[in-house]
Amino acid sequence: MVDKARARRVDLILPARAQTMGLRTATDAKVAFIRQSSHWWNGTNYYCPLCDQEFHGSDCAAHHLVTNQHPVLRWELAVLPDRGVDG
Ligand SMILES: [Zn+2]
Repeated sequence: MVDKARARRVDLILPARAQTMGLRTATDAKVAFIRQSSHWWNGTNYYCPLCDQEFHGSDCAAHHLVTNQHPVLRWELAVLPDRGVDG
């Protein structure tokens, strides 16, 4: 499943708004995305740190994620990914 084109290192610095969420690099964003993946679909507000763009609803967020292969994050979970979540 791993191809060489995707092995390139991604370490660009994220926009200021992403950094307020504790995410400095694209790698940080990917780690945060993985940590919140089990609760990801329950969200209403999402944010793509690579595009500095917000999404309302998991449908829009999922579309962006799939189309662009970006780690779109749940806004309300991004700062505290280990916090307990209802449901
Ligand atoms: Zn994006």
